[in-house]
Amino acid sequence: MTIFSKIIAGEIPSYKCAEDDRFYAFLDINPVAKGHTLVVPKQEVDYLFDLDDDTLAAMMVFSKRVAAAIRAAYPCRKVGMAVLGLEVNHAHIHLIPLQSEGDMDFRKEKLQLPAEEMQAIADNILSHFSA
Ligand code: AMP
Repeated sequence: MTIFSKIIAGEIPSYKCAEDDRFYAFLDINPVAKGHTLVVPKQEVDYLFDLDDDTLAAMMVFSKRVAAAIRAAYPCRKVGMAVLGLEVNHAHIHLIPLQSEGDMDFRKEKLQLPAEEMQAIADNILSHFSA
């Protein structure tokens, strides 16, 4: 079981931003920007592009809805999308509110936000997510 499957199952806590029957979105614990969110399929597949076409397409549409909620909660120029997957072997999409190109820099020092602020950010995004 991957760490993300444990999060989806509720065995490991997370800052939930959105959910439907196939996908789960939660805050990245080491955000590069406030509102940095991960979207994962509940199906446990390592490599994003190994997902079947229907799941991959549905994940993109789910990510679109999460991005709209992020943008509503945290006005930004655009929400950027990135796929790395080098650390956690469970397919996921990074959604990051962008003010400038530098906000997508994964090499810069990550933000360290108190738990209460992380919870408030997640609650804010969740409140804008249309189920
Ligand atoms: P990568 O696999 O390279 O896309 O990176 C995995 C991402 O997952 C990193 O940005 C981590 O900060 C994030 N991450 C790892 N464990 C957790 C967790 N328990 N909760 C939230 N985010 C996590």
